[in-house]
Amino acid sequence: MRIDLHTHTRVSDGTQSPTELVRAAVEAGLDVLGLTDHDTAGGWDEAARAAEGTGLTVLPGIEISARHHHHGVHLLAYRPDPAYPPLAGALGKILAGRSSRVPAILERLRSHGMDVTAADVRRASQDTAATGRPHVADAMVALGYVADRSQAFRDWLNPGMPAYVDRYAAELVDMLRLVGEAGGVPVIAHPWGRHGPEAMGEEALAGLVGLGLAGIEVDHEDHPPAARERLRDIARDLGLVVTGSSDHHGTGKDGHALGCNTTAPEEYARLVELATSARATGTAAARSPE
Ligand code: AMP
Ligand code: FE
Ligand code: FE
Ligand code: ZN
Repeated sequence: MRIDLHTHTRVSDGTQSPTELVRAAVEAGLDVLGLTDHDTAGGWDEAARAAEGTGLTVLPGIEISARHHHHGVHLLAYRPDPAYPPLAGALGKILAGRSSRVPAILERLRSHGMDVTAADVRRASQDTAATGRPHVADAMVALGYVADRSQAFRDWLNPGMPAYVDRYAAELVDMLRLVGEAGGVPVIAHPWGRHGPEAMGEEALAGLVGLGLAGIEVDHEDHPPAARERLRDIARDLGLVVTGSSDHHGTGKDGHALGCNTTAPEEYARLVELATSARATGTAAARSPE
């Protein structure tokens, strides 16, 4: 069984439609595909339809933009009911923060001589429900200001660079509660990806277990081998599910090919079992598709 639990489509900042992603997953020989666009469940239905009759199982999820002690944290929520009003409201607030940041980024680019308009960004992000820096990057590429997304981030859009602007993110502890209430299973994405162990050490992770955290993404391209070993030990000590995934973004992000990291079948089975019991105990009337 080949199981990849974290991927993106054009509904957020990937470059494939949900249908194209499902086809690529089948071609890559995957058995289970976690579809986890940023802050939206907008691709779930199309992906489920595309997977019919292929033998591929799509595990619907959302990668939620959160914050913990002022550090950005991405929370993967598997099979929550996205229509549960408090969760829908929280996601709406994050999506609004994504959109309202764009003019500020464009203003900074303009002050550096790059004339990228809101219409240019809209053209570059037609299918998205979650506008982000990658779409600004795509507009910069289309206008010839940079060669690719990587250069746009490196020279302009990363923190510390001239056109970086922060955006709203939800409190992690609130999201752990809401995801549980919505019948979903929360897993922290690439916990040591950006800041290393500093932002999300063993003690911090231990503190989150009591708040409903179910797992951590250990095998991710942003984690060097030593970090993976250490995170695997921590997960075992804390009883957390260990996942592995590509964080595939189509051609939008280099080095994240489908299936480049995978989740062990027994860990996936634990996740599915947790999702089944979460649905039974969640406050939300569980309506998410199977
Ligand atoms: P935002 O959602 O606007 O904060 O932008 C962050 C997103 O940009 C992440 O989810 C990544 O998918 C993407 N990203 C970050 N760095 C790069 C990069 N160097 N090349 C391509 N995409 C990137
Ligand atoms: Fe992304
Ligand atoms: Fe992420
Ligand atoms: Zn991701």
